[in-house]
Amino acid sequence: MPFAAFAGRRRVPPPINEPTCAYAPGAPERAALKARLDAMAGETIDMPLIIGGADVRTGTTAPSVMPHDHAHVLGRYHTAAEAHVRQAIDAAGRAHAEWSAWSFEDRAAVILKAAELLATTWRDTINGATMLGQSKTAYQAEIDAACELIDFWRFNARYAQELLDEQPLSDHTMWNQLEYRPLEGFVYAVTPFNFTSIAGNLPTAPALMGNTVVWKPAASAMYSAYYLMRLYEAAGMPPGVINMIAGDPVMISNVLLSHRDLAGVHFTGSTAVFNAMWKTIGASMAGYRSYPRIVGETGGKDFILAHPSAEVDALAVAIVRGGFEFQGQKCSAASRVYLPSSLWPRVRDRVVGMMDDIRMGDVRDFRNFMGAVIDRRAFDKIGGYLEHARTHAKVVAGGTIDDSQGYFIGPTLLEAPRADYRSMCEEIFGPVVTAFVYDDARWEEMLAVVDATSPYALTGAVFARDRRAIVQGLSALRYAAGNFYVNDKPTGAVVGQQPFGGARASGTNDKAGSKLNLVRWISPRTVKENFNPPRDYRYPFMNEA
Ligand code: NAD
Repeated sequence: MPFAAFAGRRRVPPPINEPTCAYAPGAPERAALKARLDAMAGETIDMPLIIGGADVRTGTTAPSVMPHDHAHVLGRYHTAAEAHVRQAIDAAGRAHAEWSAWSFEDRAAVILKAAELLATTWRDTINGATMLGQSKTAYQAEIDAACELIDFWRFNARYAQELLDEQPLSDHTMWNQLEYRPLEGFVYAVTPFNFTSIAGNLPTAPALMGNTVVWKPAASAMYSAYYLMRLYEAAGMPPGVINMIAGDPVMISNVLLSHRDLAGVHFTGSTAVFNAMWKTIGASMAGYRSYPRIVGETGGKDFILAHPSAEVDALAVAIVRGGFEFQGQKCSAASRVYLPSSLWPRVRDRVVGMMDDIRMGDVRDFRNFMGAVIDRRAFDKIGGYLEHARTHAKVVAGGTIDDSQGYFIGPTLLEAPRADYRSMCEEIFGPVVTAFVYDDARWEEMLAVVDATSPYALTGAVFARDRRAIVQGLSALRYAAGNFYVNDKPTGAVVGQQPFGGARASGTNDKAGSKLNLVRWISPRTVKENFNPPRDYRYPFMNEA
């Protein structure tokens, strides 16, 4: 007899947001994290594919390096050939029968245990891997790899339980039930380099709902991805529920996206890649068993629009923190800023003053506010924008680049000659903020410009003390951002507080870390049970008096 038959109605522990550890001087957590960083930097690890719970060494490897010290190899990850991708699909298929039959509470217990391990014994390892492999400072790693991922796991368990509680109407003659079935097939999770929390959430959210997953992390985040897989093992995740593969994304995606059993795609990354994947799915429609669920959170060109009544100090800090933290490599990073000419000189001077103060370098030196950008490709791409700006815009401050030891790009403030200058429209994904200075009298015109300038609609902020301006911003920019901020920077969404995601070219807006996202990973079956079925085919109206 399965345990669930006797278990009664089990309730998920109420989630609260994981407190952020400050790592201040003298704190024991700081010493422990530094010791773990030293130990991890002192070894070179081997990272196999993990398929059906087994380590698979293909013999073809690629290095994971520190972006801030690119000669330093942290480990080598094995890359998949087509046969390994097929093995991963088979492993997910085999694991589906048992995992999807487990009670929700038993699956939730694995996820909640992973959260508790991450909050305690695994915290330094996952934070350390994120710092070394993705060049995040201790604080940026802490709010991402520890706190946000713990929150995803604890809050998702609660949201899933609330979802399962929703049942249709019944009466004394019949009992109607919704059975929240997992999807039929496997889910393909594809994750970006920039958030370890997203790397953790995208495979585990469908898994919590009973699905099995093939997961492809970003090449430049394989180091933390590998440790996440080890954490799942430690939490008791059965083999084959999440299968991790690495390698050529085009080959891997072609195999997975054209497979009959593809049941869903859980993607976060750039708009161009998501569009290409959607096209492949479209071209494969005739071969699928079910319509695949397609969930994608993609690029952004996030704005701060300041009204002449805005408070200068708050605005300047929002630009610096929103634009330069984690080197501007957040999908939500402030990268286009609209400032009234009456405020510009003061805002500019405050921002430049803070930029002069910012230290950049190896993230193991805790005095640094910024590390390096992720890799050579990003360094070259951002450098291209800076090169263009030197002749076509104005470099107000920064613009320095240096790749001799790490991929360092200094925080940069540009002034755009026009509201449609390229760095006001295109996603750069680096520490580059472009300001457009407008005539105070053109405030209402600016609302339309902000709305129409970029194809994205992820995050945005309006700064004003005048309430009428805030009301205008909320209304005119209704579709310009899925996460809208009033007098706050457009980054730093917290699970359970600001569900995250945008529309237009920024994604399907299924709001990671919310019930709306979990709904995508189930395919409910309605069961009607009749306690007293009719025994005569005729209806009363058919009787003549
Ligand atoms: P990316 O698109 O380069 O890569 C994302 C994932 O797609 C990686 O796993 C990569 O290996 C894979 N990939 C790359 N090419 C592929 C292809 N041709 N076919 C299939 N898969 C492919 O993005 P990135 O550089 O890792 O991350 C940065 C991007 O992610 C930015 O555009 C950012 O705005 C976006 N992002 C969005 C959100 C959000 O919530 N909207 C959050 C984080 C990042």
